[in-house]
Amino acid sequence: MQIEVVTIGDELLLGFTVDTNGAYLARELAPYGVTVARRTSVGDGADEIAAGVGEALERTGAVITTGGLGPTSDDLTKPSIARLFGREMYVDVGVVESLHRRWKSLGRTGEIPRSNFQQALVPEGAVILANAHGTAPGIWLEDERGRWVAMLPGVPREMRGMFADALLPRIRRLMTGAPTVVRSLTIRTTGIAESALSDRVQAIDGWDLEGLSLAYLPGWEGVDLRLTARGLGSDEADVRLARVADVLRPVAGDHVYGAGNDDLAAVVLAALRAQGQRIAVGESCTGGMLGSRLTAIPGSSDVMLGGVIAYHNDVKMAQLGVGADTLVTHGAVSEETAREMARGARAALGASVGVGITGIAGPDGGTPEKPVGTVCIAADVGGTVRSLRAIMIGDRHEVRLRSTQAALSLVRRLLAAAAAGETPA
Ligand code: AMP
Ligand code: MG
Repeated sequence: MQIEVVTIGDELLLGFTVDTNGAYLARELAPYGVTVARRTSVGDGADEIAAGVGEALERTGAVITTGGLGPTSDDLTKPSIARLFGREMYVDVGVVESLHRRWKSLGRTGEIPRSNFQQALVPEGAVILANAHGTAPGIWLEDERGRWVAMLPGVPREMRGMFADALLPRIRRLMTGAPTVVRSLTIRTTGIAESALSDRVQAIDGWDLEGLSLAYLPGWEGVDLRLTARGLGSDEADVRLARVADVLRPVAGDHVYGAGNDDLAAVVLAALRAQGQRIAVGESCTGGMLGSRLTAIPGSSDVMLGGVIAYHNDVKMAQLGVGADTLVTHGAVSEETAREMARGARAALGASVGVGITGIAGPDGGTPEKPVGTVCIAADVGGTVRSLRAIMIGDRHEVRLRSTQAALSLVRRLLAAAAAGETPA
């Protein structure tokens, strides 16, 4: 089934409110084989609402709206859609009664504000969708041809409650034939650009997505490859997703570190645990962010020993044993310094694995040879030390986040090489 979502509210167009309702509905419907074909946001004006909903109805005949159901003068969703369907508005006694009940249950005395009764006005032929979390009832309106609009409140909590209690069961009853699903599988990669990944994928001999869609989703952690199956039975969807993922994974090679929501910090901790190794970190520009990521994983204390925030050169020398001559000759941001930090962290904390990170997070401090974003990272795994120098993109925060990811990735690769008995490149 294909539907459209129209979210209503000037605040959405002005950018003051992010349309989380649209995202929620799409996510919740997908497992039932209901695809959101298009999402539109329109302002509060009656004509804007009628145009947005009317066009959506023409395309799919099935529309969910959120917003504009409240008791105030800017809440025009019901009358404008009633007009679209050629229906009059009438006062629903059931809604009036539930207003009185809610008023009493909240311990309120005195008159219910007149504008609240605005909410009891509904289009002829409307099915009322109960609102357990607020006063505005939702509306289901259907025409002679079976085209329908479901109107939900804008307040996310009320919208979610009504969707689950009243709307989802109704939509599921409309679905006929063998159930189909929308199902995704995510391969997580890091250290390779989206464009480079795409080139590799395009170069696969006889590349066939088998009707699945493939999305490249870049972020500071890396690029996620998300495969999605639509319109298949659940078994067939799973089989195809697994088969295409098996073709994709080798193409991304050792840039692949996990699946689904896997966190690289958790992946590294598991690898350390499996090898009986323990890690210590020496961090300059990341100021403890790597330690924070490792300690954020519950139960990490068996393999994560601790670290040194070696921001000042004095600390790099005194706590991590970085040589004064190294700092003078190569600079604080150099692979040489990072290597000595990794070795020093390992030694200072009695770990088998040490990590060193030093860089220029910006916005100031860059030079032509070492521009802002330059980060040097080293890992010492049981005496085998490897380092890299990279220019991280983004603002200060993102440079630091990307640095933690690159450091974890280096450790992961060295551990994998150690486990395979190989000498890492
Ligand atoms: P309304 O039902 O139009 O009176 O909306 C009430 C409140 O819900 C608004 O003030 C927004 O804060 C919130 N809201 C409305 N639409 C959305 C949306 N699409 N996503 C997230 N929040 C929303
Ligand atoms: Mg509104």
